[in-house]
Order: sequence, then structure tokens, then C-alpha cells
Amino acid sequence: MSREDDWLWERVRTQLRRARVSGDLQPTATAAHEIDDGGVRFHVRVIAGPDRKWSSRREQEKTGEDPFLPPYSDDLFVADLSDTHVALLNKFPVLDEHLLIVTRADEPQQSWLTPADFAALSGCRRGMGGFAFYNGGSTAGSSQPHKHLQLVPMPVTTASLFDPEVGGFACAVEPLPHPASPEALHTAYREAMDRVQVDAERDPHNVLIDADRLVVVPRVRHSIDGVFLNAMGYAGSFLVRNAEQLERLREIGPRRILREAGRPR
Ligand code: AMP
Repeated sequence: MSREDDWLWERVRTQLRRARVSGDLQPTATAAHEIDDGGVRFHVRVIAGPDRKWSSRREQEKTGEDPFLPPYSDDLFVADLSDTHVALLNKFPVLDEHLLIVTRADEPQQSWLTPADFAALSGCRRGMGGFAFYNGGSTAGSSQPHKHLQLVPMPVTTASLFDPEVGGFACAVEPLPHPASPEALHTAYREAMDRVQVDAERDPHNVLIDADRLVVVPRVRHSIDGVFLNAMGYAGSFLVRNAEQLERLREIGPRRILREAGRPR
């Protein structure tokens, strides 16, 4: 890790401390559970208090305000990544170190990822490692319409889910070189999109990037029986609103939810 990369990580911690004190950071408190579904272990977090992210989104719909355009909140702003991108802290994180990689321009969320997106993401991955994802469209689980990638500390990636016998949803998996340059990420992305025949502007989809692979999952449904999922679901991690939804998730089974919310193979 270079000095510059160390600096990014330090900056995230500093801003987290500041944003906690100022109240700009409003962490989402959750209780952690596990579900074993046919030998695959899923992590489920149940929101413990009010779902501030959704109330804030509803408020935003009324005012038409875009939180990903300047002026950024001082304590949530992490870094100027490039001429085209900035890094912000997620205001309502489940895991504190949740970085948003946001375009400076007002671009729509359901669009093609570009070499500039991967250049910005690469800088952050070098500095922080972690698991990157993209929710391409509201059907794929995005709540903010302004283009953003996300980076979180590594979750439980259940790579076995991408095995057709296990997951049962359509997906394309591209192995990544170590280290993966921005160009290598972009090439892997275009190949994966091509293989599952996803047109980024038309077809909702999730993109998942861990240390070893880039995966594209086409999406057909935003939620199944009230249980919502974004790219994290395909990495083995669900976030639900209450105990009732946790029960429904147990009853239906996480693997079936992934299968029905994705495109059949
Ligand atoms: P997604 O829901 O996948 O579109 O990701 C957008 C993320 O932005 C969510 O996880 C929200 O918690 C987060 N978010 C919402 N409003 C703000 C804000 N004002 N500042 C920073 N992050 C926000």
C-alpha cells in the first residue's frame, strides 16, 4: 500500500469520527442473524430502530434534492478521487466504513460503468481492499438515482452461490488478476455484461467485485414477498426491516429469493 493509499484510509477514519460527533453520520442499528440454506450460510441484519434511510429518501422525493451533488456535507466528504469522482461516507451505514464513489456530474444510476468509474474505484480498492458493488437501477436495489458505486469491508462472499446448481440464477463470473488495474476491471465488466446480455441502460442488474472476481447478476424483481435485496444479497448478506421479514426470509429461503429476484438460468 502506498503512502497515498494509507492517507485515504486515515481520512475515512477521521471523517467517521467527525461525522459521528456532528451527527452527520446516522448509523443504522441492526441485530445480526444467520440462516443456513442447504449448506450455504447467509448473514441477515434486522434493522433495530427506525429506517432513517427510507424516511430520508421519501423526504428527498418531496424536495427534489440530490445529496450526491455539491455542496457536500463537510463531515461526510472523504476525498476528491479524480476530475470525475468524489468519495463520500454513507450517511446511514450498517457497517461504518461504507464508502460511496459518486460521479461529480449528475449521471443516472442505471448506466454503463465507464473507465473513469473503474479508475476512481481502483484507487479506493488499493487503499482499503473490501467488496465493491453497483446496484444498476431501482429494480436492482438502488435508492439513489445519482450514479454511485459502493465499497464496504469484505462481507461473507459465498462464492458457491454462483455455481448453477447452488444459486440457480443467471450470472457471469469473471476472474480478476492480482492486482486488478482499472483497465482489467473494465474489460472483465464488459465481458460479463456481454455474456449475460445485459444492456446497462435498459436491464436492471447488480455488479459485485471482490478480490478475486467480478460478477454481473441480471435482475427482474426488486423484492420477493416484501423481502428486498440489492447486490449484497448475492454476496450472502440481507438487510431486512423487522422480525416479520426475517421470518418470511427464513420461510421462503434466501436461495429461492435470489433465484426469483434474478433472471432464471
Ligand atoms: P443505494 O441505496 O444502493 O442507492 O445506495 C445509496 C446509499 O446512499 C444508501 O446506502 C444510503 O444510506 C446512502 N445515502 C442516502 N442519503 C445520503 C446522504 N445524504 N449522504 C450520504 N449517503 C446517503
